Formats: sequence, C-alpha cells, structure tokens
Amino acid sequence: MAHLFQVDRVRLLCSCGILKPITAIYFCRHCLKLRCGNCVSHEVDTLFCPNCLENMPSTEARLKKNRCANCFDCPSCSHTLSTRATSIQAPYPEDPSKWVTRKVYYLACTSCRWTSRDVGLKDQTVATGGWAEQDNEHYKYLQSLLEHYRSVAQQEKGDRERKRFSHRKSSYLSLSDKYSLPSLLGRKSLTPLSPFAPKGDGSQGSEMTPLEATSEVDGLPDNIFSEEVVLSSVANMEQRMSSPEWQPENTSDLYPLHKHILVKRSLRCRHCEHNLSKPEYNPSSIKFKIQLGAFYHVPEVRMVHKVDLKSGVETNVQISLCNPTPHDMTVALLPFVPEAYAAVLQKAEDPADGGSLSTSSLVRVVDIPVEKTDLTPTADVALPQGQLVLAARDDTAEYDDQDSISSYKDDPHVVAWRRANKVGVNLLVTPKPEAKQANVGFVLRYDYTNTVATATESRTVTLNIPIMVDVGSVTEHCDEE
Ligand SMILES: [Zn+2]
Ligand SMILES: [Zn+2]
Ligand SMILES: [Zn+2]
Ligand SMILES: [Zn+2]
Repeated sequence: MAHLFQVDRVRLLCSCGILKPITAIYFCRHCLKLRCGNCVSHEVDTLFCPNCLENMPSTEARLKKNRCANCFDCPSCSHTLSTRATSIQAPYPEDPSKWVTRKVYYLACTSCRWTSRDVGLKDQTVATGGWAEQDNEHYKYLQSLLEHYRSVAQQEKGDRERKRFSHRKSSYLSLSDKYSLPSLLGRKSLTPLSPFAPKGDGSQGSEMTPLEATSEVDGLPDNIFSEEVVLSSVANMEQRMSSPEWQPENTSDLYPLHKHILVKRSLRCRHCEHNLSKPEYNPSSIKFKIQLGAFYHVPEVRMVHKVDLKSGVETNVQISLCNPTPHDMTVALLPFVPEAYAAVLQKAEDPADGGSLSTSSLVRVVDIPVEKTDLTPTADVALPQGQLVLAARDDTAEYDDQDSISSYKDDPHVVAWRRANKVGVNLLVTPKPEAKQANVGFVLRYDYTNTVATATESRTVTLNIPIMVDVGSVTEHCDEE
C-alpha cells in the first residue's frame, strides 16, 4: 500500500518557494496561486475548550490564561480527567449521631487511573467546579513583572508613535497585544517608564530591580545519596513542566491542570485578502464555510507502485493523476527547470516578505526558519509528450460495476490505465550516478476552470505547478561494464 506512506513523496512548490505536500497547501482562486501555512495570514476566529466546547471571547480567555475553568487534564498523563461520583457516609448535619449517605465527586483519569484522591484532594459535593486553585508563592512577583512589562510596552508604543512615519512595520503581533495593553489604556497611572529605573515621582509605576545572577546554588538534600530512589514517586520532566508555576518534583504533588483552550483559525491570502479557509463559528462543528485546499482544485499526483531503482538504469515509474474538479481537465507534463524558480526561492529566504496586509487583528504565526528548498533533481525523467484529458470527478462513478468504455484515444505507451477521473501515466526515470535518492521534477500544466465568476477574466485558465517527486532510494548498479 504505497499510497499510505507517500504524503511527503509528492511535493508541490508553493508560490512562496517552499515544497509542501498537497494536503498542506491551499489554492487561492482569486490569485490563482498556491498558498501554504507559511505565506498566509492566520486569524483567530473562536476560542473554545476542546472538552466542554464552551467558547469565550478573547478578553475572557486572556483573563483565564487561555484555560477552561471547568475542565481538567490529568497531571500524570495529560489525558482529560472525568468526574466520578461515589457515595460516602457522613454525619447528619442536624443530628451528628445519625449517618446519611451523600454523593461526592472526584476527578479520575480513565487512561492512567490517576485520581484527585491520590494526592489527598477533598471530594467535592458538586459535580462541576469547586476545586480550589493552587496558590502560587511567586504570584506577587509575577504580577509586578507583568506590570513592569506593560509599562515597557506602553513606552515602546509611545516611541513607535513618534517615529511612525520612518518606522517600517515588521510584525503583525503588536506589543499592545503581547502584554494585554488595551485593558490598561484607561488607567491614568500609566506613564512611560524607562526599564528598571526606580520611579520617584509618586506615580504607581513598576519599581523593578533586576535580579543578579549568582554562582551559589542550594546544595542537594542530605538524603539524596542515602535513600533509594523510587522512580514512580518522582514526577518526570513532562509532568513537571506541564505546570510551570509549581513544577512538582514528586508525583504526590501533582495537581489537576486546567485544560488549555484551542482556537479555530481562518486563513487569508496575504495578497488579495480573500479567505482561503474559514471554519464555522460553532466549536462543535467540524465543517468549514470556506475551504480552498489545493486538494479540491489541483490534480493530485501519486506514485502507484514502489519501484526498485538502480543507478544509471532507466526504470518505468507509474504515477496517477486525479482530477478533483467537476470539469474536464487537460493536463501536460513539462520539463522542470530549477533555474526558472530561482526568484521564487529567493523570496522564500527573505523573511521580511509580509505581503500587503497589516491589520492589527491579524496574527502572523511565528516565523519558522525556512529550510532551504532543494529543487535539484537527482534523476532524469522522460516525460510523456502531448496532452491528456482527465475526466471530471463523478461521485457516482465508484458505484459502477464495470469500467466505462474509454472514449479517450490514449497512447498505450503513455497511459497505463484510466479509471473515472484518474489516469495512470508512465514516466521513465534514470537516477543520476552517485545519487542515493531519486528526486524528479516536472511542471504540471493543467486547465483550471475557475468557478469564481468574474466578468473580465476567461473562466478557464492554464496553470503551471512545479512538482517534485521522491521516487525512492537508489541501489548500486552491480553489473557495470
Ligand atoms: Zn507558501
Ligand atoms: Zn471546558
Ligand atoms: Zn492520566
Ligand atoms: Zn489571493
């Protein structure tokens, strides 16, 4: 089942110069270009708890530190905790000599069997909520740090306002967003402060003294060398780091963790500002209002069989082309000239390319250092000449028992088979000497029928998509002359 493992084998060259599999690429119907997660704007649409599906506005989420108030994760294995009910005997409030049965609730993990009783948490009398929050001993210090950075942000904002006309916009994530400044703007005490400088004029600014690094650290506890380590009682790194405020060392100190809130994102083309992906607002829905995945607009290329390649030997490699659109499509495979895409690659290496959007509500995901796109083919490929017609997608075709008689006049040397909207095509691949892996490149030219009605443009356009296929590893050719 070669197709199960080939997600990364066939990769398309995005308009930003990065190779991505078709499942990770979008197609902008307005620019008629491929877009990927790296070259679109990401916007947060909805914040919601993945367990109770409650959605909340971003200000509330920020106050709750992006965690759900009612749902908990297991501190031991991070699975969702569920509430369990049990009955206990308790003294009757009006007559302590009598006993009554009462229902109490505790939290339990169905995955690792951790329960809130393990760490001595008192059972609750209500099914939801009631769990006491842990006190953080550094709370005051953290608050003062936050205050301080808010004033730093305020100062930076002031500076930026001053040199707004000379300053080049570099980031979508403005500082005001970083330190939740908008909530503070109404407060009169906010005066710009210089970082770490004591403020003596009576305004309640932050008075921070930077901490000094020291080479003196606390010694190890006395019993560390004498007592045997019971690994099951020591929290592992993941468990410690999942609650950064407390970092429990022992499993007996683990405490239920509030569940992280998730977001629904919509993606926007940075050039034409149209949405490429927009989920439905309701957190319980998994549908999209707009979903322009390349999967629905670009012919899908797959490798059909695994092939054994030998260095310098021409091998027949079968690929399949699949038309996902409801329109017939003419395709041609053209030779790939890596030099023609040098400009695109240059763009990929320039992280300053921010496109034309700069609205403050847009959040650009942290720039991932782009790995250098390697477009050098390590094998030569003989591509079929001429054009092929891919039949339109027909959802009822899979119910047909017999193959419909092909009305297409195909060259049997090129077309290996034809089934509904799919065509198997033969390529002849010759790995270059010294190549360990055979990568071939070609340009897929196809006629795309644009369903976005525009009066000025013709509905069918011809598009070229550069594709790199990792055909497989190459074994040494033994019987050389
Ligand atoms: Zn891209
Ligand atoms: Zn929840
Ligand atoms: Zn667990
Ligand atoms: Zn666009």
